[in-house]
Amino acid sequence: MNSVLEAPRSIVVVGGGVAGFSALSELRARGYDGALTVLSPEGLPYDRPPLSKGYLLGTEDAEKIRLAPASWYAERDVEVLPARAVALRPAEGGIELDGGRLLSADRVLLAVGGAPRRLRIPGGVAALTLRSRADSDALRRALAPGASIAIVGAGLIGAEVASAAVAFGAEVTLIDPVEPPLAPAVGEPIARRLHAMHGERGVRTVVSVPVEIARGRADDGAAHLLRLADGSTVAADAVIAGIGIVPETGLAEAAGLAVDDGVIVDPSGVTSNPSVFAAGDASRLRLADGVLLRRSEHWEAAVRSGQAAAAGMLGEPAPEFGAPWFWSDRHGVHVEAVGTLDPRQAPGSRTVLRAVGRVPQAAFLLSAGGHLLGCAAVDLPLMVRAARRIIDRGLTPDPEALADPAVDPRRLAR
Ligand SMILES: Cc1cc2nc3c(=O)[nH]c(=O)nc-3n(C[C@H](O)[C@H](O)[C@H](O)COP(=O)(O)OP(=O)(O)OC[C@H]3O[C@@H](n4cnc5c(N)ncnc54)[C@H](O)[C@@H]3O)c2cc1C
Repeated sequence: MNSVLEAPRSIVVVGGGVAGFSALSELRARGYDGALTVLSPEGLPYDRPPLSKGYLLGTEDAEKIRLAPASWYAERDVEVLPARAVALRPAEGGIELDGGRLLSADRVLLAVGGAPRRLRIPGGVAALTLRSRADSDALRRALAPGASIAIVGAGLIGAEVASAAVAFGAEVTLIDPVEPPLAPAVGEPIARRLHAMHGERGVRTVVSVPVEIARGRADDGAAHLLRLADGSTVAADAVIAGIGIVPETGLAEAAGLAVDDGVIVDPSGVTSNPSVFAAGDASRLRLADGVLLRRSEHWEAAVRSGQAAAAGMLGEPAPEFGAPWFWSDRHGVHVEAVGTLDPRQAPGSRTVLRAVGRVPQAAFLLSAGGHLLGCAAVDLPLMVRAARRIIDRGLTPDPEALADPAVDPRRLAR
């Protein structure tokens, strides 16, 4: 590797997810014209959100979910190597690939994502998980009409899989210890509305946790029998665990980089080794004032951190990004949230609701001083876009206007 004070002449991005892809794109957009390679063991980089939505439902195919066609890489002189990195060797100037080849690089970006958290209970290995295209294919095969499906975890992915499963005519039981799930992410009123939709669409919801996955009894005809902490049992042809991810930190740890539930980076994506950067779900941001943020597991955060790392690798200042945002689709509705909706993070804050009848359409968290901290909404993307502008500009919107369904969201940000 050359000195970090010199401009890089070769960059290797480890991982072809959206964080790695965004870094490749940003590097070329910023005029970097040196060697650029991405290690992507699964072939051409593809997007993950459709794996629990359109790809799982069969409305989008493998080509549709690619982040870019092969020509995109050829036009930008980006080499895509379908290889896995097995060790970082900063002292030797590069990365060791499976097969033993050493690939040299002035800068390395770790954009290696995470692995689904496994159920640590007896029989837990029987549960399917969802992270890759192959996982989604396997899940799709299990979602036959009439099949009994137990989903453990009613967060974003569990809920989306439940929605796809009932669309295929499966009998779904959704198990989560929290009622309603997702309240810290979208606020309690919207979380309640979303969770109630499961019941309305025929998903059985259970507030508990499995303690064992045993072999199913012959009289049930199902392959698995989940024993729950509340003493009840659930028979299922297939079990799916959607209980979060574990960041992929093995390469970083083995190379002695600072790791704490993610590879620690600064706002430019630099790790504790100045020639190694990290981005996406595998990374965790430490702000300039030393505050270590919670690791994000959302698509836009992965894009932004890939872009920030690209700037960082070129020695340029990190771009400024506004409030974090994510979306989810389930049971035919589109949910978005920006900023924070968790009142525990803002003492003295209050929640304002915009509702039609008794059904909340949007929730807003306002600080004690009246600043908008977050907004979550169902099928109201314009509202979330307006909220995002209000948060990023530090405005203090009129709570009555926020709550009034007759007020056009675009007027709120003026
Ligand atoms: C099913 C699903 C649905 C989702 N839906 C939403 C949604 O609706 N909204 C939202 O905001 N977010 C959603 N997300 C989250 C979002 O997709 C992730 O935050 C994002 O994909 C993270 O990107 P990443 O590049 O950091 O990691 P990943 O996408 O995991 O990519 C990491 C890549 O690194 C590769 N890799 C790992 N180790 C190595 C190695 N040693 N050598 C080489 N390559 C390696 C992996 O094979 C993988 O391709 C969803 C995620 C999933 C799985």
